[in-house]
Amino acid sequence: MSTRWVYEFGSGRADGDGSMKALLGGKGAGLAEMTRLGLPVPPGFTLTTAVCNHWFQHRASLPEGAWDQVRAALARVEEQTGKGFGDPTRPLLVSVRSGAPASMPGMMDTVLNLGLNDQAVVGLAERTGNATFAWDSYRRFVTMFGDVVLDIHPSRFQRVTETVCAGRRPQDLDVPTLQDLVARLKGIVDEQVGTFPQDPVEQLRLAMEAVFRSFNGQRARYYRKSHGIPDDCGTAVNVQAMVFGNMGPTSATGVAFTRNPKSGARVFFGEWLPNAQGEDVVAGTHTPLPINRAGGASGGPTLEEAMPAVYAELDGLQRTLETHFRDMQDIEFTVEEGHLYLLQTRNGKRTPAAAVQIVVDMVDEGLLGEEDAIRRVKASDLEMVLRPVLDPDAKKKVIARGLDASPGAASGRVVFHSEEAQELADKGEAAILVRLETSPEDIQGMTVARGILTSRGGQTSHAAVVARGMGKPCVVGCTEILVDYGRQLFYAGDTVVRRGDWITIDGGTGEVYEGEIPTLAPPTDAGAMGRLLAWADARARLKVRANADTGADAAHARMLGAVGIGLCRTEHMFFEPTALRAMRQMILAEDERARQRALNLVLPIQRADFLAIFKAMDGLPVTIRLLDPPLHEFLPSRPEEISAVATDLGVRVDVLTERLKQLHESNPMMGHRGCRIGITTPEVYNTQVRALVEAACLAMREGVVVMPEIMIPLVSMPAELERCRRQCEETAEAVLAEYGMKLPYRIGTMIELPRACVLAGAVAEHADFFSFGTNDLTQMTYGFSRDDMGKFFGEYASRGILATSPLAVFDTEGVGALVRMACERGRAAKPGLKLGVCGEHGGDPTGVAFFHAIGLDYVSCSPFRVPVARLAAAHAALGVL
Ligand code: PEP
Ligand code: MG
Repeated sequence: MSTRWVYEFGSGRADGDGSMKALLGGKGAGLAEMTRLGLPVPPGFTLTTAVCNHWFQHRASLPEGAWDQVRAALARVEEQTGKGFGDPTRPLLVSVRSGAPASMPGMMDTVLNLGLNDQAVVGLAERTGNATFAWDSYRRFVTMFGDVVLDIHPSRFQRVTETVCAGRRPQDLDVPTLQDLVARLKGIVDEQVGTFPQDPVEQLRLAMEAVFRSFNGQRARYYRKSHGIPDDCGTAVNVQAMVFGNMGPTSATGVAFTRNPKSGARVFFGEWLPNAQGEDVVAGTHTPLPINRAGGASGGPTLEEAMPAVYAELDGLQRTLETHFRDMQDIEFTVEEGHLYLLQTRNGKRTPAAAVQIVVDMVDEGLLGEEDAIRRVKASDLEMVLRPVLDPDAKKKVIARGLDASPGAASGRVVFHSEEAQELADKGEAAILVRLETSPEDIQGMTVARGILTSRGGQTSHAAVVARGMGKPCVVGCTEILVDYGRQLFYAGDTVVRRGDWITIDGGTGEVYEGEIPTLAPPTDAGAMGRLLAWADARARLKVRANADTGADAAHARMLGAVGIGLCRTEHMFFEPTALRAMRQMILAEDERARQRALNLVLPIQRADFLAIFKAMDGLPVTIRLLDPPLHEFLPSRPEEISAVATDLGVRVDVLTERLKQLHESNPMMGHRGCRIGITTPEVYNTQVRALVEAACLAMREGVVVMPEIMIPLVSMPAELERCRRQCEETAEAVLAEYGMKLPYRIGTMIELPRACVLAGAVAEHADFFSFGTNDLTQMTYGFSRDDMGKFFGEYASRGILATSPLAVFDTEGVGALVRMACERGRAAKPGLKLGVCGEHGGDPTGVAFFHAIGLDYVSCSPFRVPVARLAAAHAALGVL
């Protein structure tokens, strides 16, 4: 049997079904499945992704037999509609849409009304008795075809259209003016590429090829790369009989979500436009109306009010679809002279908070099991549920209000173009991308901007949908601002905001503010996320701790579900002004007594901090790392700082300068840091251990259950740990004797150097636990500096040498092999050795999966990523990739 390249759907039967996304693309599979369900879907067919792949592999030629299958499928669409492709009296018009297996906004989307030409437009006018509609359809077709198929810049068509319309909507023009407009638009095509193709079959072939080309376009490639979509998945092409939402007052078009895509609330949510085509809603060029009042929408009229029977039918269909797909659906519909048609259904993009709410509700509704719910939510998305909100006490000036498209608050400098957003991002600066509306061309800018503001468009406009998917704050339809790209500014009432000025947007309220406004972390782990994570915890084996340096951070981490502190970096405490001064005195001290005097000033500060952390973590383990960074980090470097410090400490500038020279290191990351400080300057660690044990005793006196773990950093030789451990024990025992108390404490080490991994057996002899410092271990294994890697990473990424930064996404292959070896050797020497990770990879789902697989006990990460790690730990246990 010859290969099937074309899959038909229509009149209740379909060759494909919803499971065939890889071959039919998401859209094609959805159309086939909807047809099988008996839903009102206009007939059509899908060219498979295999055709696309063949086209690229065989110099832009179709596989044998594919075109014949297209013609045969077209004939069946003609039969079902009673119209003819290219028939001047009863013209069949089709839409041509791309549809890859995964949604890919960088690609050609749609050409509507294909099949129209100079004769067919006349036939269409006669048949429908609506010449305005026919000529407006032709206008749309020439514009879309010129733009997306023939690659003529859309601004050329826009300029002419705006001139002819002179403030009116095109569909409100009289017929002769519309005809004149179409002639001018065709003139642009003639000028650019020769004549506008009149043969519908030729139009179809060109449109199909344009879809294929767009799959390999720069934007689509960028999107695939940034979303980890393979380049060889190909795209399908969907060809479908047109139905018209712009045939008059009983026609309409819209986009709807089966639940609210922002909050996840179980209310049917959507927008519609009377007498319009779908592109008007999606492109954001018209501000659409709410479909109902259930979601609390104002404005109107709603579809429910204007066409109650159609609305009731749509409401019934959306329930059917959601129950069938067991996921929130994003539905495109058209009403043609009172008849409802569904043009697309797909799993709807949603905010991370909505994603969580929806799966938890679906468990309650019996649509999903708990494990389905856990599997459905991407672990990394949970970080975005914790997005910042504006500080309610901060001074704010609202300069405009728009629609609340994607929650979260963001501040940044105003830019008007994607490239400018990229430029700022490259400098590490925050940008807010301000546009009239966005299109797939802006994806790159949207990816790097902190937030997006558009003056046009509704809740389902490109900007809103894409930003929501990215989890990025976004305000759309902000008609109160007037964007002037030419002069690089926007007006908001009396305020003029220029490129580079700071603004803040709140995507949860739709408000736009002048300047930069401080944000607060939203308290969470309540409600839906708390329930989902409780289900996750019940399945996870890895425990999740947090890295926290203060009592407040520890309390926050505990609220987010951390079951201990895996890393308290004590150096942060030394930057407190009194501690910093004492530290400087200590470093510059000539003898041990002077050093100890200085450290005695540090002691109460550390003790107070430790006490706060122990109280916050009552009953849970707290790992405290002794001082790690190079000492010179505490010393001044700029001349004015040096003289200020010299005055403050009562030493001469030249003496201080000389001492600084002695302390200078060429490579401080590999210099006098970590346990090396503990060995050369034991007073430092002794003071820290004293502070820690005293704090523990004070806490215990208040009835707090304290479980301290003392951690020695940057060990590469077993003897280093042996010595530091002995010192720590001596101090700890001395303090306990002074207080007359007992304290169960552990002493362990960080494993952050390759040598420690190799000698893990011998290191384990002196350790109660290992905590892998994968930040240092990654830098030391690759031999590149954490601070300097950014200088060449871009080149490495663009040349395909490194796909992701190993500092962000754990290198299971190289660094992972060392970690595995250390675990095996450590546990062989000391069965039951406790093993954890406290580098950033403790909150990276790739790392979590690996650490689960090799049998670690816990991961520890920043408080915001604790929910991510908890869910990732459950995914690892359930084998979710
Ligand atoms: C590490 O190296 O992984 C670590 C947690 O320590 P730091 O980032 O403080 O060097
Ligand atoms: Mg480290």
